[in-house]
Amino acid sequence: MRKPSLRSLLFPAALVAAGILYYAVDPRSKFWLIQCPFHRLTGYACPSCGAQRGLHALLNGRFVEAVGHNPFLAVALPYWLFLLLAARVPRLRPLHQRLTSRSALVLYGLLTLAWWMVRNVYGW
Ligand SMILES: [Zn+2]
Repeated sequence: MRKPSLRSLLFPAALVAAGILYYAVDPRSKFWLIQCPFHRLTGYACPSCGAQRGLHALLNGRFVEAVGHNPFLAVALPYWLFLLLAARVPRLRPLHQRLTSRSALVLYGLLTLAWWMVRNVYGW
């Protein structure tokens, strides 16, 4: 068995560190967390606005509150987490290839654009 390289461990370690950070720190009360530059510049919400608050709520077991901060998290988060998992599990590689195909990525992009428009039109 090959020994994992330091580089292959960095991304999962960063993911775990970010998870611990967003579990422990409420983004509403910390000015030093990343603020959305698009929102600050334009006053409009980007597709990710509310994701930090939503992630904090989700990691603390408040699913409904998480979806309230950014409903697109309910689509995007499972998609990205599954892609991360499927990239590392050989048996899931065919599904990973389908979910990262051009048509799947175009669909994801269109859903993101639709969400972006809907949230700014309806003030979500
Ligand atoms: Zn934003």
